[in-house]
Amino acid sequence: MTSLNQQLFERAQIRIPGGVNSPVRAFRAVGGAPRFFTLGAGPRVWDVEGREYIDYVCSWGPLLHGHAHPKIVSAVQAVAEKGLSFGAPTELEIELAERVCALMPALEQIRLTSSGTEATMSAIRLARGFTGRPNIVKFDGCYHGHGDSLLVKAGSGALTFGQPDSSGVPADLAAHTLVLPYNDVEALETLFAREAAHIAAVIVEPVAGNMNMVLPRPAFLKRLRELTQTHGSLLIFDEVMTGFRVALGGAQSLYGITPDLTTLGKVIGGGMPLAAFGGRRDIMQHLAPLGPVYQAGTLSGNPVAVTAGLVNLELAMEPGLYERLGEMTRVMTEGLVQIGRHHGFPVSACALGGMFGFYFRDTLPTHLHEVLSADKERFKQFFHGMLAQGIYMAPSAFEAGFVSTVHGTAELEKTLEAAETVFSTLA
Ligand SMILES: *Cc1c(COP(=O)(O)O)cnc(C)c1O
Repeated sequence: MTSLNQQLFERAQIRIPGGVNSPVRAFRAVGGAPRFFTLGAGPRVWDVEGREYIDYVCSWGPLLHGHAHPKIVSAVQAVAEKGLSFGAPTELEIELAERVCALMPALEQIRLTSSGTEATMSAIRLARGFTGRPNIVKFDGCYHGHGDSLLVKAGSGALTFGQPDSSGVPADLAAHTLVLPYNDVEALETLFAREAAHIAAVIVEPVAGNMNMVLPRPAFLKRLRELTQTHGSLLIFDEVMTGFRVALGGAQSLYGITPDLTTLGKVIGGGMPLAAFGGRRDIMQHLAPLGPVYQAGTLSGNPVAVTAGLVNLELAMEPGLYERLGEMTRVMTEGLVQIGRHHGFPVSACALGGMFGFYFRDTLPTHLHEVLSADKERFKQFFHGMLAQGIYMAPSAFEAGFVSTVHGTAELEKTLEAAETVFSTLA
């Protein structure tokens, strides 16, 4: 007997490549049929078979306050009745711009987009246009959306020139993206000594969240800021995941670094398609219609998404909220590690604000190669075990996890009970 999830997955695959509209949803890293959801409320989701799960994916980060927060939903309903999109300015956009710039002082001006991919792609173009330089630097394992210049991986051997990380990306274009290992100060210094004059920008996830979760060495971020400043390259913090997630002021507030440009997404829209890039006024003024760098979007800053974002951020500004969220995430992940180790598994975890990494590895990785050395088979078993216990973790060992502000003690206890059951049955 095939399950309803399995049936829907088969039907989906007839008309949708791989059955999904974004690859990681397909469960290929863990096997089996993805769960098709029908309902989300607070920290929980329900699939088409009526099974309930505690959700640690939270739509891959945006849902800082869980599913269908009543204040967000009612604000969205009210604004939707007045028009879904105008393609003309609204006061709501100014309010969101003012709010984000107030929360992140490195942003003097901001432009809204509909996806994180657009935000990073636009920030890169702006950096190239502003500096007049062709090359960008990224770090292996960091993900910045699927723009051509950013779908690039490290070349073989000592070469830093990037290779396309997707079919369809011309090698000529990828050669303008230089790829370095994350957290490697020495590699950074060597590259800048040799190539600085051609480097328009360095783009980095200040806390890496797309190779599971990898914390930055503070010295790495600090040196990155110094080198870019000295050599006239722009520093772009891609905070699409970390913005309003690890702290109200993003990772830049935690590490005390002021980037030239910042990209935002996910939490900024509270579950609606909304993202942004912003930074120094003198740079942002190079954007059309003021300057020569073109960037646009039919639905950019539409009132429905902007309203969801405004209410989401308003809720995030409650005093003490990130301390409580951080504590919940820390206690949950420390619990997982303690239970795992008690049963003899070499596991480790890290947490920051409402974001966490969990590894079948005895120490935390500092760059992609170490992430890749974690035990993927064990993770698969763990994932399916937890899923069967009603705990929905990211279906891949290379994704960060998310806790929302409405995950409470009941969820914590159920999660750790499930972990006890699962670890005790893992062979
Ligand atoms: C999710 C993500 C993106 C891409 O955002 P989309 O909205 O999926 O296009 C870019 N950068 C980082 C760090 C992300 O986590």
